[in-house]
Amino acid sequence: MEIITAVKGFKDILPGEAGKWQYVEEQARKIFTAFGCLEIRIPILEKTDLFARGIGEATDIVEKEMYTFRDRGADLITLRPEATASIIRAYLEHHLYAADPVAKLYTIGPMFRRERPQKGRYRQFHQLDVEILGYEDARIDAEVILMLIHFLKSVGLKSPQLELNSLGCPSCRPSFRESILQFLQGKEGDLCEDCQRRISTNPLRVFDCKMEGCKHIIAQAPVIQDFLCGGCRDHFAEVLASLAVFDIAYTINPRMVRGLDYYARTTFEITTDFLGAQNAIVGGGRYDGLIRDLGGPDIPGIGFAIGFERLLAMMPADQCDDFIKPPALFIAALGTEAQKFAYQLCNRFRMQGIPTEMDYTAKGLKSQMKRADRLKCRKVLIIGDREIEAQQADLRDMQTGEQVKVTLDNPEEWKDRI
Ligand code: AMP
Repeated sequence: MEIITAVKGFKDILPGEAGKWQYVEEQARKIFTAFGCLEIRIPILEKTDLFARGIGEATDIVEKEMYTFRDRGADLITLRPEATASIIRAYLEHHLYAADPVAKLYTIGPMFRRERPQKGRYRQFHQLDVEILGYEDARIDAEVILMLIHFLKSVGLKSPQLELNSLGCPSCRPSFRESILQFLQGKEGDLCEDCQRRISTNPLRVFDCKMEGCKHIIAQAPVIQDFLCGGCRDHFAEVLASLAVFDIAYTINPRMVRGLDYYARTTFEITTDFLGAQNAIVGGGRYDGLIRDLGGPDIPGIGFAIGFERLLAMMPADQCDDFIKPPALFIAALGTEAQKFAYQLCNRFRMQGIPTEMDYTAKGLKSQMKRADRLKCRKVLIIGDREIEAQQADLRDMQTGEQVKVTLDNPEEWKDRI
């Protein structure tokens, strides 16, 4: 019979790899916590309206990529394609802003987008997501970026490149939008089908298009930087000045608009040279109107999402060694009495936090030693009926081959030597 395989675009994270995930998660927790962020865990399913309102109807994610279905005939629900909207929903639903609007939150987990699977792009992928709610101050934008870059470097990324832009605010963006519409007039025929549609739904999305023809046209288009109002210009200047405090290098990419509607003012991406076309590993920005758009008070926010899979793909190999911790001890037991003894000792040690393994298939010594070797156990305790009788056995160091006699009636005596 044929085996059933995983769904296309959905990937297993196998034991060896899972160690890397744990390592990256630990680093993230440590660093995010030092910067005052608290973990929030949010559901994987949300009402579809949350994303339609939060991300924007006329975005690729909402138009084409969401896993949306009816919950057995009831509500229309969606597997979350990103975490920001859900975090804000939770912040509003539980009135986390009531005592203090400032909330620094992070979450780690799977997201779902029905994109065409390819290298570095999956339908279930994972993000490390940080959202800082309640501050408008430009120093926070720089601080968030500082934390992000510090984290990326801590997991071994050598040269994360920061690209920045300001997308303006509702008072300056309309005139930019107008000028884009004018610019695109008469060029409709040269745009791809999607972009032709975007002209009437969301013309700024044309900047996101990956088609060569559209990219070529947009390279000549006006840029938002020339349309920023005084407030946005000052805010952006202060972000840059605060980045300079920490010597954070950046390039301003005036054509970066990012694929979600909610961004305002600072937006940023971190790219590396490694993955070619799929080279953005982090996307983020400020979304000062989003909390209000989702029915809450007028509270500003900024956040970012790191693509877990892409981050791992870029971590240097030497950073990824030794993630499977081998057992400290293997008990090779031959014969019924020795197996009984081994079974007890093995589990006693485990309960004391000493990773210990044994074999349950009554194999000979040679094959048990082979297994100990394959598991990369540091030490092996070899016991047979004779050792049980004498209450003494050999503890072998698998690397040096050195053997010492240890007592079986009081393993506490030698457990520290394992
Ligand atoms: P976004 O939420 O679109 O700003 O994406 C943030 C980051 O998530 C990107 O920079 C990628 O690293 C990662 N990402 C987004 N979509 C995918 C996907 N389909 N597969 C793998 N990683 C993704």
